[in-house]
Amino acid sequence: MITMRNVTKSYKTSTRPALDNVSVEVDKGEFVFIIGPSGSGKSTFMRLLLREEAPSAGEIRVADFRVDRMPGRRVPGLRQRMGVVFQDFRLLQQKTVQQNVAFALEVIGKRRQFIERTVPEVLDMVGLGGKADRLPSELSGGEQQRVAIARAFVNRPLVLLADEPTGNLDPDTSGDIMMLLERINRTGTTVLMATHDNHIVDAMRRRVVELDRGKLVRDEATGVYGVDR
Ligand code: ADP
Ligand code: ADP
Repeated sequence: MITMRNVTKSYKTSTRPALDNVSVEVDKGEFVFIIGPSGSGKSTFMRLLLREEAPSAGEIRVADFRVDRMPGRRVPGLRQRMGVVFQDFRLLQQKTVQQNVAFALEVIGKRRQFIERTVPEVLDMVGLGGKADRLPSELSGGEQQRVAIARAFVNRPLVLLADEPTGNLDPDTSGDIMMLLERINRTGTTVLMATHDNHIVDAMRRRVVELDRGKLVRDEATGVYGVDR
């Protein structure tokens, strides 16, 4: 599903590369943690997959997309097939829960009939069927993140990218979010989650890809966060 081959990303303004000769392959349906301290390159890894940045060198493939050589006109098509979740939720504050989720389908031109059928289904899946008409400001943090996950998942993406999705949540709420991401993963969706939450990584026993100063320093099938932290 995802291939990175000898990928280096150097930002113009910095001396050492944010990613340094990284090679990794992720199969369809995998659940992968991308871990490492702040500044190790986790966000850059995600931004490269979304073609928010282009690599300085190397090859990047997502499904049938040749992301590293992608002309600008193809980028929207790539991003339509990727769901993204952030630490700070990034919901539209003036729209209700169901409008936030529907909007993701409206902007890619889905028919109204399809939207009206699909949005309630996905809100039920994330446990927010009863809160469709609330505004984000009326929800707890965990609920807002579930809206964001519903929005990311509603178009059945090939890959769900989650960048520190539990970073603003307490441990119990984080556990709920992880169960939801596991459920999405069980539908066959490939999930990549950047985190530095060692408790979550240790509890889940999933594949761990560790970055340190831009270098891939560990890739384990069922890893823990690390013993020396
Ligand atoms: P992480 O997500 O693990 O915190 P990042 O990918 O954000 O790591 O950052 C990796 C390195 O790249 C850091 O040294 C950071 O300062 C640098 N970096 C990230 N984004 C930019 C940017 N837009 N311009 C210049 N340097 C950047
Ligand atoms: P938490 O359980 O994380 O402490 P809150 O205390 O913020 O969450 O909210 C508890 C419940 O009350 C949530 O289901 C939330 O949707 C609802 N709620 C919170 N604030 C409002 C509000 N201003 N209007 C309507 N419902 C609200």
